[in-house]
Formats: sequence, structure tokens, C-alpha cells
Amino acid sequence: MRVLVIDDEEGIRAVFRDFLEALGYEADVAAGGEEGLALFDRHRHGLVLTDLLMPGMSGLEVARAIRARCPETPIVVISGSADALDRERIEASGFTFLAKPVGFPEFMNAVTVDRRGKRCAGSFTRGGQGPPRTPPADGPLSPDGAGFMRDA
Ligand SMILES: [Mg+2]
Repeated sequence: MRVLVIDDEEGIRAVFRDFLEALGYEADVAAGGEEGLALFDRHRHGLVLTDLLMPGMSGLEVARAIRARCPETPIVVISGSADALDRERIEASGFTFLAKPVGFPEFMNAVTVDRRGKRCAGSFTRGGQGPPRTPPADGPLSPDGAGFMRDA
């Protein structure tokens, strides 16, 4: 699996890349949200790890932008300075929260729990086909029971 790491600190990016490679994953790293989203649009990673506090886009903004593209992609938001409210907001949004400093065991646990997510195959960058089409009908994207009440 290919994993995306977004963090404005070079040292953190290097450590997380080492962790991921030790776990057998391929890692792409980005220093900020815009760069990270560009990489995500190219590779549709199976898991995204993003720092919370960065210049430019925050980790939460990055996480929402990725979810808007690929609702099933698991996202871990990491911070060394999040207070309880930040953490609550991150978790209430359905993202995994991980506190810095992140040791290998916690890292491995977060990555392992979250690798159940499905890789998002959708791409908006296919050439020569005009505007994006509706998502493929074979994906498990629609919530179970949608439209059920209407038929009752
Ligand atoms: Mg930071």
C-alpha cells in the first residue's frame, strides 16, 4: 500500500517515512496541504497521515478535502499541541487522532487499524473525457438503505 504523509517538519516526515518503510509500505511525503493534495490526486493513497498545525491549510482542512475526493480513504490527523477540544472535533469528524511525539508502537497501531480502508480508485484527471462523470456504480459508496423509506 502507498501512504501519504503531510507534515511541515522535515524531521517528522523522515521519521514517518522510515516507520512506513519498516512496515513494508511505500511512502510519499509532502511539506504542506496543497502539495499533499496534488500528490493525492496523482496517486490516490490507501492511507493519509497529516499533521494538524501547518502553515497554509490545516490538517483538518486537508483531511476534509481528501474526504471530499475519496470518502473511504482512512485519514490520521497527528498533533503535538491539540487540546481536548481539537481532539474531540477530529474524532467526531471520523478521523483518527494521534498525539505527538509518536513512537513506533503507536504509529504501527494507528496504521494497522486504519489500513482496512479501501483505496479510492476515482480520479478526476483522466484526459480527454470532459467533466468528471458520476462515480462507478460498483463502489460501496452509497449508504446502506438509502431510498429504503421512500419505497416503504
Ligand atoms: Mg506542524
